Amino acid sequence: MRTRDVGWVEVICGPMFSGKSEELIRRVVRVDIARRKVQVFKPALDDRYADREIVSHSRLSVSAIPVEDSAELLRLVDDETEVIGVDEAQFFDDGLVEVVESLAHGGRQVIVAGLDLDYLGRPFEPIPTLATRAEYVTKALAVCHRCGEPANFTQRTVVSDDLVVLGATDSYEARCRRCWDPTEPEQPKLEL
Ligand code: ADP
Ligand code: MG
Ligand code: ZN
Repeated sequence: MRTRDVGWVEVICGPMFSGKSEELIRRVVRVDIARRKVQVFKPALDDRYADREIVSHSRLSVSAIPVEDSAELLRLVDDETEVIGVDEAQFFDDGLVEVVESLAHGGRQVIVAGLDLDYLGRPFEPIPTLATRAEYVTKALAVCHRCGEPANFTQRTVVSDDLVVLGATDSYEARCRRCWDPTEPEQPKLEL
């Protein structure tokens, strides 16, 4: 790693289908073209489509290392790595904030993608905290599945008592603020 470099953090956030993974993949591909060493991480619980890659809804992909938590991520960063990508970062523990900051302090460029709101419209940590600490924040919007307006919200369309229903395209829609309704479909009471 070129230690003279100053590190920075970028957060790419927004609802499902807003192109967060696409943006992350685009940045990672460019780093690779520049022949700089890049590593991409994802939470191990997110095993949809493929185990050792991240795949966008538009079927772009890059290889990624599944990790259990932020501590494992930090352990697996190679010395020569200059750029670090993290996808689905909302599924990491809060320790991700310190890990990302220490990597940036050490001269790395860290690009973190994830949902900033859960399907009930509540801040989805650690993304909001990471966004306040980041040098760059890219807010991505989707297209409202109902009306076509810009969509900042994720609508769950199936009934489940889990906070997380992974990824399935048919379980969620992107919605604008007018079409989004967190009381629909009626969910069982969450014990949070
Ligand atoms: P995210 O990681 O934010 O969930 P992806 O990068 O995986 O999003 O996918 C973005 C792609 O999803 C878009 O380029 C488009 O091809 C597709 N897509 C499907 N539904 C929508 C929608 N409602 N709004 C925007 N893009 C959508
Ligand atoms: Mg994604
Ligand atoms: Zn709408």
